[in-house]
Amino acid sequence: MNALSVLEKYFGYEKFRPLQDKIIRSVLSGKDCLVLMPTGGGKSVCYQVPAIMMEGITVVISPLIALMKDQVDGLRLNGVNAAFLNSSLSNELQNNLMKDLQDQKIKLLYIAPERLTAGLNYFISFLKTLPVKLFAIDEAHCISHWGHDFRPDYLLLSSLKENFPNVPLIALTATADNLTRKDILHKLNLHKPEVFISSFNRSNIRYIIDDKDDHFNKILDFLEAHKSESGIIYSLSRQNTEDIAERLRENGFNALSYHAGLDQETRVRRQEQFKNDDVDIMVATVAFGMGIDKSNVRYVIHETLPKNIESYYQETGRAGRDGLPAQALLFYSSGDLMKLKRFISIEGNPEQTQIYLKKLNQISDFCQSHTCRRKFLLNYFDEEFNAPCGNCDVCLGGIAVNTFDGTIIAQKALSAVIRLNERFGMGYVINILKGSDSAKVHDVHKNLPTYGKGSEFTFDEWRNYFRQLIDRGFLFQQGEFSVLNVSERGKDVLYRDEKVELIMPKEKKTARAEKKGRYVASAEVNYDKNLFELLRKLRLEISRSEGVPPYIIFPDTTLIEMAAYFPFQLHDLPHISGFGKIKIEKYGDDFLKVVAKYCTENNLTSKMNEKASTKSFDTEKGKKNISDTKKLSFDMYVNDISIPDIARQRRLTENTITDHLLHFVLTGDINVLKFVSKMKLETISNAIDEIGDTQLTQLKEKLGDEISYTEIKAVINYKNKKPVNF
Ligand code: ADP
Ligand code: ZN
Repeated sequence: MNALSVLEKYFGYEKFRPLQDKIIRSVLSGKDCLVLMPTGGGKSVCYQVPAIMMEGITVVISPLIALMKDQVDGLRLNGVNAAFLNSSLSNELQNNLMKDLQDQKIKLLYIAPERLTAGLNYFISFLKTLPVKLFAIDEAHCISHWGHDFRPDYLLLSSLKENFPNVPLIALTATADNLTRKDILHKLNLHKPEVFISSFNRSNIRYIIDDKDDHFNKILDFLEAHKSESGIIYSLSRQNTEDIAERLRENGFNALSYHAGLDQETRVRRQEQFKNDDVDIMVATVAFGMGIDKSNVRYVIHETLPKNIESYYQETGRAGRDGLPAQALLFYSSGDLMKLKRFISIEGNPEQTQIYLKKLNQISDFCQSHTCRRKFLLNYFDEEFNAPCGNCDVCLGGIAVNTFDGTIIAQKALSAVIRLNERFGMGYVINILKGSDSAKVHDVHKNLPTYGKGSEFTFDEWRNYFRQLIDRGFLFQQGEFSVLNVSERGKDVLYRDEKVELIMPKEKKTARAEKKGRYVASAEVNYDKNLFELLRKLRLEISRSEGVPPYIIFPDTTLIEMAAYFPFQLHDLPHISGFGKIKIEKYGDDFLKVVAKYCTENNLTSKMNEKASTKSFDTEKGKKNISDTKKLSFDMYVNDISIPDIARQRRLTENTITDHLLHFVLTGDINVLKFVSKMKLETISNAIDEIGDTQLTQLKEKLGDEISYTEIKAVINYKNKKPVNF
């Protein structure tokens, strides 16, 4: 059987997600590999499919017992013989399992790392008697001090390659910067590894940041729009989590709190309640979430500012693993920032404190910037991304911004950078602008013409302006010390008097939309809500009788597809995502009955013929969101509203609107001549033929001042014109 048929038969999915098939091929060819994929990206399939295809046993090493159990339950329900071995099993069960392994009745064995040294390497010797064909190391960053979750037991894995030199190894993680990545390869002794890095974009997550004033009512508004959906609210203190949970219960919501101060039994029970959909909202400290793979968490709210972007990304990443629309809402206040600054400093360790402070400032910058949230996040993780994403508060125009002509401010900032020979970081440049007499400022710099020229702003205001200049590409940061450099665009401002619009830092978001209806429900997928509820009920019954959480029986995506396309017959089910062979046999009839009954009662017919079987739900959705914001600008434009007016009404910049409209040159819906004269069109077109259309700066340089970036982009899109449907 080939990999795709295995995916269909055992997992019920019709196609691989990006990179999955490549990774599987590499594993099957016996190579070591390292896989970096965001949470929810689909890492498990990368070793589970090969494990099913290969003769012999795959050993999976995973740090958390709770996760092992979920994985094994999930595999068994799909008809794959999997098992886990850990100290929670009785001796008798352990012995039975050893026997099953010897009889080759098990395809995947999950163990914790410490198992490897148990009983003076007895276990390693035992493994050597088995036909082990692959090792999979989950959460591989735990082996590195550089990662954010170092686990000493993981160091035991260093000896795997020595003991099993001929068994390929696949290491997987959702968080790994360059240092951690190298460390993983090194510590695991991987042999000529192939490294796979997938995009970290979680396109289904909508990022929203709001001011913290009146935030409890804002939370109530939000929850009102997300009734009976599953979600997590993160808060800093234990007391806070309890207070908020109680107030939510008083307001009729089904909420519990979770923190490390609760006894073990309560913690385990509450975690199970959340997993089983018995409680909708968990108000928790960051202690909650590590062992939870729940795929249908619909939102994550940060009631207090997270300590760094890594944590924020990991915590928000717990939303929407199933690929359906999900929300990440963060409440920002400068008070919280101050509090955290005190909280994170480590006495007697100024270096570590500095690192933490830097990370804290970065997340504060993130909250205060007005560029696309997704762009900021992905760039932070060294991934290129072009705004607008169409699915964050900034791109959706949710932020009321007060812009002003900031050319002079920009010129001051840029010239200070130039005067310092582009050799200093933001903090130093600001000190110069403010005329600081700190000992850190070199005396020679006190004679610079820019010294003290920016004393009218506070340090934080300057930081905000610098951020904006970086976000918009006038400045860029380089190297380990984030040294500031002026870009070509920045030079246009300095030497060619190009205008810069800046956003007033303090006026941020004051003119928010009216109080109620501030948060809209997740972008709607068109499906029958009543039928969905009936299917959910059935799923819950099955989950109770099988003794596993509902999302392990089926993710929400499966139920939503059924509630959207009404499958009537068994042969419809392979086309519903999540229905593998075993699940069709086991549960197919029960679900079909519910659908059929509902459709008869409501006079509905099956829509299976509308289901394009090769297209997955979530990717379609993502595209739609992006095109929605562009489409809105387009609709206004064809209604004869000028670009500046569209920008004003949509509270976006003119540049953004122009970018939206340029997209329709690509689709052929707007004539390119609206953006560029015939004569220039030809000149630009020739230049593109010569240089290609990827080097925008080079094109601009070649074409000179007479021709603008917009004109160039218009012609590029015109030359790439293709019809696209909404
Ligand atoms: P990760 O370990 O990377 O966080 P998982 O392996 O838990 O992610 O996968 C996340 C979700 O995506 C799971 O519900 C999984 O079944 C689903 N999934 C994985 N691969 C596919 C695929 N090719 N098509 C559809 N869904 C998939
Ligand atoms: Zn965005």
